[in-house]
Amino acid sequence: MKKLALHWQILLGMVLGVGFAFALSATSWGAEFIGDWIKPFGTIFINALKLIAVPLILASLIKGVSDLKDISKLSQMGGRTILTYILTTVVAVTIGLGVVNIIKPGSTITKETQTELLESYKGDADSKIADAKKQKESGPLQALVDLVPSNIFSATTDNRNMLQVIFFAIFFGIGLILIPEATAKPVKDFFDGFNEVILKLIDLIMLAAPFGVFALLAALVVESPSADLFAALAMYGLSVLIGLGLMIVVYILIVWVVTKRSPAFFLNGISPAQLLAFSTSSSAATLPVTMERVEEHLGVEKEVTSFVLPIGATINMDGTSLYQAVAAVFIAQAFGMDLSLGAQLGIIATATLASIGSAAVPGAGMVMLVIVLGQAGIPEAGLALIFAVDRPLDMCRTTVNVTGDAAVSMIVAKSVGKLRDPEVKNWDDHYKK
Ligand code: ASP
Repeated sequence: MKKLALHWQILLGMVLGVGFAFALSATSWGAEFIGDWIKPFGTIFINALKLIAVPLILASLIKGVSDLKDISKLSQMGGRTILTYILTTVVAVTIGLGVVNIIKPGSTITKETQTELLESYKGDADSKIADAKKQKESGPLQALVDLVPSNIFSATTDNRNMLQVIFFAIFFGIGLILIPEATAKPVKDFFDGFNEVILKLIDLIMLAAPFGVFALLAALVVESPSADLFAALAMYGLSVLIGLGLMIVVYILIVWVVTKRSPAFFLNGISPAQLLAFSTSSSAATLPVTMERVEEHLGVEKEVTSFVLPIGATINMDGTSLYQAVAAVFIAQAFGMDLSLGAQLGIIATATLASIGSAAVPGAGMVMLVIVLGQAGIPEAGLALIFAVDRPLDMCRTTVNVTGDAAVSMIVAKSVGKLRDPEVKNWDDHYKK
């Protein structure tokens, strides 16, 4: 029997997980059973993925940078990467603003729902606001200061510090380029081998993916807030989803036009990473799989993926920025505020920056949303309005974040001549591997 493709296996895991949780929620013990006996397997699966993320970034980025062999190539690729990331983010925020201004989901929310939401999620909102305040209180150059770790070991202890790990790896790679070839060789060989081992570990972890997502989704279903609140926020959720859907179409079109790769090719290649992003709500946890898919199935050379994807997972969050734009305007609408054109343009700037600053972990985009609200003069307490549906939207925006990283890496690869042709023989062998 032919083995089911990975994305079908994962999808099956997801559907069964949701079905299982619904079936068990009918019983009095179902939720507890899932919490005690099913959820831990999801947590183990996410932990295993996160465990791989930091060593993977270190090994692949050091190797990727040192393979570039000269600094001018590095700055060329770096420049294109950052520019494309910022452009796609601005497009995403603009789409978000367009959709929310047309649909006006905030105007449909009733006074009673508003009060109910504000009361039931006040505590949660307050803690997010406090988190965001901490980030904001630091000076304007704090982001730059945070980039440079004072100790590499402490930088690797928290997935929120990924930018520090990236900084160290690029710095180390530059050092490797600058020393004599003969001295650099054993170090490079070490990281080559290290990288191979990590890739193998990802293969092994992915064998458990269908079971991992089963557990994750089953746990999510039993922990979700009541369906009534979901319904009240349906127009808002729908606006975010329409925006995210449009953004996926934008990626498909850009990839098609720039790289001549068909939508089916692109989506087939990236879908397991998308499903995983959806199940884990974390670009960082998904990164190992994104890298593997983009390299092995979308034909992007390692030199590009090892550089573009870790940076993308950390700073390129188009889904997050789009969501922040929709959420900010939705809250303003719900409070009966009219946002001027100037305020909306301000949202484009702050949501772009806030999404760059969001960590690649579940719920991070919501913390940074507080900063967008603050800049636009929208009451931060409004965060409580959107809490109930944040998790499902987080799952969807993370999927878009990951898709955006993959699309940009194809575009950058094309622009520097590092996109392999699936027709080419060598690549074909590699592809089938
Ligand atoms: N969960 C998102 C990610 O990891 C970030 C967010 O909360 O928007 O990409």
